Amino acid sequence: MSVLDEPLYFSSVPTREPAPRAARVTLVGAGPGDPELLTVRAERALRRARLVLYDHLVPPEILALARQAELVCVGKESGDHTLPQAELCALMVRLARSGRALVRLKGGDPYIFGRGGEEAQALAAAGVPFEVVPGISAAQAAAAEAGMPLTHRDHAAAVVLATGHRRGDQGMLDMDWAALARPRQTVVIYMGVSTLEPICAQLAAHGLAEDTPAALVERASRAGSRRVVGTLRTLPALALQHEVRSPALLIVGGVVTLHEVLAAQGVASTHSKTYA
Ligand code: SAH
Repeated sequence: MSVLDEPLYFSSVPTREPAPRAARVTLVGAGPGDPELLTVRAERALRRARLVLYDHLVPPEILALARQAELVCVGKESGDHTLPQAELCALMVRLARSGRALVRLKGGDPYIFGRGGEEAQALAAAGVPFEVVPGISAAQAAAAEAGMPLTHRDHAAAVVLATGHRRGDQGMLDMDWAALARPRQTVVIYMGVSTLEPICAQLAAHGLAEDTPAALVERASRAGSRRVVGTLRTLPALALQHEVRSPALLIVGGVVTLHEVLAAQGVASTHSKTYA
């Protein structure tokens, strides 16, 4: 049985009173998926770990580095958390106070759309010592692999990272459209596959030309990675046609056009597909 199939582990969660000094929690960014994109510090933390609480997006090849550790899956995709965030924070605090050092392993960078900030706040509030090991975020991996520099003097003087995840049951897209639709910037949207159509429509409604280049980069740095390239007008239909699935990033802006020249040189592009 793969570690990913293992049931949630709670049985040995200690219940004794807090020790005077809590053990350390290390919030580790696992990067976009390719184990070669782990930092040296992240790899060291995994090799030393005895207990790892990991998210759904972390691939087995990376988990396999934590040979001595008990592995616990605590998070699925956004909106479908195996363990509610508050319970996860409470669990980490409880484990640390009982003397169990642990690695909290998160996809990409812990402080970019991973709720790492909330977890760090909970640890700080509880007086648990913690360290954050940054990771390569999906935007950086997608940019490198797809040949779309996030900034470029001719196209974008700024880059905005935003989430396309709907907030609450109302399904509201909580975004500052006017800010996202500014010229000469690259917009990268995480968790935006299911909301692609309203996002493209809103960006156009708030001032971006309908033929602004836009791309989806699916599974950046992972096996079977693909990119689908179009414009704000054409991308939603292309995404349906090619059945783009999460994890994928939406990249909007002039830098997308650079993929025609830059993507061919990337090693990763040999297993990627581009659709004009
Ligand atoms: N902390 C992570 C982001 C977590 S939110 C980071 O810094 O990358 C999860 C979203 O990240 C996914 O829905 C998807 O939009 C994006 N993502 C994560 N890994 C990805 C990958 N390999 N390729 C493309 N997008 C990815």
